[in-house]
Amino acid sequence: MMIVMRDGASEQEIQGVIDKLHAIGAEAHLSRGEFKTVIGAIGDREKISEIPLAALPGVEKVIPIMKPYKLVSREFHPESTLVKVGPVEIGGDYFTVIAGPCAVENEEQVIASAKAAKKMGASILRGGAFKPRSSPYSFQGLGEEGLRLLARARDITGLPVVTEVVDVRHVVVVANHVDVLQIGARNMQNFLLLREVGMQQKPVLLKRGMSSTVEELLMAAEYIVQGGNTNVILCERGIRTFETATRNTLDLSSVPIVKNLSHLPIIVDPSHATGKREVITALARGALAVGADGVMVEIHPDPKAALCDGPQSLDFEQFGEMMEELKTMAPPLGRIV
Ligand code: PEP
Ligand code: MN
Repeated sequence: MMIVMRDGASEQEIQGVIDKLHAIGAEAHLSRGEFKTVIGAIGDREKISEIPLAALPGVEKVIPIMKPYKLVSREFHPESTLVKVGPVEIGGDYFTVIAGPCAVENEEQVIASAKAAKKMGASILRGGAFKPRSSPYSFQGLGEEGLRLLARARDITGLPVVTEVVDVRHVVVVANHVDVLQIGARNMQNFLLLREVGMQQKPVLLKRGMSSTVEELLMAAEYIVQGGNTNVILCERGIRTFETATRNTLDLSSVPIVKNLSHLPIIVDPSHATGKREVITALARGALAVGADGVMVEIHPDPKAALCDGPQSLDFEQFGEMMEELKTMAPPLGRIV
């Protein structure tokens, strides 16, 4: 249920509604827009409907939300959410580029990647320290040492860092080292992990599960926001289809669909979507064209020697070319790269 307050409703009136909800054990989530304040009521539907909400002072209207996600819905928060990552703002006019290696392999590799990312105009560094690999025999990442190297790369370049967290036991240590917690495709429905990152202050990059619908993605985001962490960035990273020409199939249509359904920013990861470096730039352009808030791409100083995802990693020169194309394309679309 959503309670829309009148323009200029007083603090006392807003608090009055919140108190009524709390009195029956319901949660009240407050969203203050430029003009309107909306209160999301979450709890026992029947008990909530027994409160004469529409008649309370300051209330303009009461709208039931029938969707299985509420706090992340556009109805609840009509204005787009801007997620702040250090000096970077995701969800506004800027098309944010996140770049870095699939996995942190050693100091030299991650620092070279961070410097190249910075030089070419990326605003966030990525790099996996705990890698969720399909085979237990593949490189599993450097773990905590990888986190320290990422923090060092941030100190040198000033770029904020995103890395994946795969286990509830690692959430605090990962949050202590990096700026954004990534939930990978394989963990999109790991509800305990979602709840755990929902209790953190650090922004969360939530990747779409490879067999998940847009609605399931938004329900997963709801778990995080419900815990109090409203700083969620969604990521389309391709889904499994019958097509074998690419590793997954990039579902670019999810971007405008999500934009209609939710106020959260959404970025695109063409690297994991396709597994093919030769199509990354074209799809990054596509992401910009369909209104995504940014892209995340894998880069490596020597992709042939990468311990993970070399075939989809751009070398620094290719990454520079991609950035140039995006910079040329962005202004007529009203975006800044
Ligand atoms: C990643 O971004 O490092 C990753 C493993 O991607 P995904 O979870 O989308 O497969
Ligand atoms: Mn990868």
